[in-house]
Amino acid sequence: MIIKKVAESKFNDSVFDTKAFGSEFSDHMLIAHYKDGKWSEPEIRPYGPISLTPAAMSFHYGQTIFEGMKAYKNENDEVFIFRPEKNFERFNLSASRLNMPEVPKEIFIDGLKTIVDIDRQWVPKNYGTSLYIRPVMFATEETVSARAANEYIFAILLAYAPSYYEKPLSVKIADFYSRAAQGGVGFAKCGGNYAASFFPAAEVQKEGYDQIIWTDSISHKYIEEAGTMNVMVRIGNKLLTAPTSERILNGVTRDSVLTLAKDAGYDVEIRPVEVQELYDAYKSGELKEVFGCGTAVVITQYNAIGFGDERAQLADLPEEESFALSLKKKLKDIQYGLVEDPYQWRVKIEK
Ligand SMILES: *Cc1c(COP(=O)(O)O)cnc(C)c1O
Repeated sequence: MIIKKVAESKFNDSVFDTKAFGSEFSDHMLIAHYKDGKWSEPEIRPYGPISLTPAAMSFHYGQTIFEGMKAYKNENDEVFIFRPEKNFERFNLSASRLNMPEVPKEIFIDGLKTIVDIDRQWVPKNYGTSLYIRPVMFATEETVSARAANEYIFAILLAYAPSYYEKPLSVKIADFYSRAAQGGVGFAKCGGNYAASFFPAAEVQKEGYDQIIWTDSISHKYIEEAGTMNVMVRIGNKLLTAPTSERILNGVTRDSVLTLAKDAGYDVEIRPVEVQELYDAYKSGELKEVFGCGTAVVITQYNAIGFGDERAQLADLPEEESFALSLKKKLKDIQYGLVEDPYQWRVKIEK
């Protein structure tokens, strides 16, 4: 690994005053080039712009994938990342679906550990705050010929993730648009999935909702994901979520929350969840909670659900009765190194 450090760090404490997520980048970035069938030696160098031609293929044909994870600091200034192997595996799954080259572990995992170590002062210490880690790969070959590219850049960027007041949101259940199709790329973290979701998201915002609950593209009868998160519902005391599939992304948070829920003795069921079942449960007062799971916010509660023209308002639960809040605390306490980690999910960044 080639390491070229900044002459002088731009870090100062006001970096952590930023309220915006993911826009205050650290001193360094990692860059590796893929060309002639192989990866270059990765280079960690000062963060900043790179030069690309407008003919770079990712701008035209959308071969671009990414990952998202976080680094946390505990009271003793130890830095941890959470289950990075999962993100590494998923990155290469996304790569192969988009017909992009896989990134070797020595570049992805070793690169990650090295850059987080170098920029460890950028990892904030307050509960709820973290340093967001964004691995990304995009096609750089210069041609407008429609085919898979032969040249790519892999990069790792680090940006401050503030904690924000997490109020419950409202979601509309999709009855026309879809996020993912059978046989498509829904399980991959590729840029196009996001691009395709912004317009439907803006439409529901006009109706006064914050996000969308995506349903299956064929019948719109089954719920799949919420915004860019996996979705879970609680009916009575049962926690339900759909199995992952070609259309449903295999979230690390989803997997971790399910493990914690099972180990806490909750009644967990992984099976397709029908919109009608949710509606019936709402009508009978059994729909207790609906929430999304993802790295950015861990768990987002939804207290209003749009079924067609009907806006269903969920009753407020006392905090200590909420599955969502209890699972969120359990997971965050592990991530922030406040409790034992029986699952060995934390990976310490050695100095
Ligand atoms: C990233 C993402 C998730 C959440 O995955 P985590 O690994 O928990 O961050 C869920 N759904 C979609 C569509 C995503 O892009």
